[in-house]
Amino acid sequence: MQAILKYFPNLSEQQVQQFEQLQPLYTDWNEKVNVISRKDIDNLYLRHVLHSLAIAKMFAFKNGAEILDLGTGGGFPGIPLAILYPTVQFKLIDGTGKKIRVVNEIAEALGLKNVNAEQVRAEELKGQRFDFVITRAVARLEKLVMWSFPLIKNKQQHAIPNGLIAWKGGDISEEVKEVSKQEYVEQYPIKDYFKEEMYLDKCLVYVQG
Ligand code: SAH
Repeated sequence: MQAILKYFPNLSEQQVQQFEQLQPLYTDWNEKVNVISRKDIDNLYLRHVLHSLAIAKMFAFKNGAEILDLGTGGGFPGIPLAILYPTVQFKLIDGTGKKIRVVNEIAEALGLKNVNAEQVRAEELKGQRFDFVITRAVARLEKLVMWSFPLIKNKQQHAIPNGLIAWKGGDISEEVKEVSKQEYVEQYPIKDYFKEEMYLDKCLVYVQG
């Protein structure tokens, strides 16, 4: 939790409380429904919470923006971002119902009014569009582009054009190459924002929509 406060020193009291509640909530829910690996539960704030918040150091979401977290699993990156941006609307989807159940329980326990979680696959989501589609550890970039591009709004209101932002790790040169033939792709290394060793090989990949 100290790491969150170090990089985000201006949180409100309510936000601090909500971030603090994440540890007991996930520890409890993970015993009932396994949504996070056991070893990561002990490292929740660095592996999941702060990692999710990296995008806030890249640019800020505007009030009223609509964001889709594609393949949210237990709620990452969507839940930490919904705490950080209470005036932004987050839709969290996953193909697996039991994960969405956990996400709904956690959002409710935190009193997050800006989270809407639904069991649906990205390919089947219709009739709704978003400023940004965000996603961590779900699929190769090519697939993510295919799923997310039909869901991105034309109307722009941010410092960068609407698009897809994927949390990636390791060697992604091949998957970036595949996509950059057709699309504008840019990589933002997380080590530029957070100094912890675990972020050394991690980056945010932006694909303009
Ligand atoms: N984003 C979370 C979970 C990653 S695991 C995290 O970083 O912790 C990948 C998740 O994506 C799984 O829960 C899986 O059910 C979901 N998923 C994979 N393909 C999907 C699709 N096409 N639509 C919706 N969810 C999908």
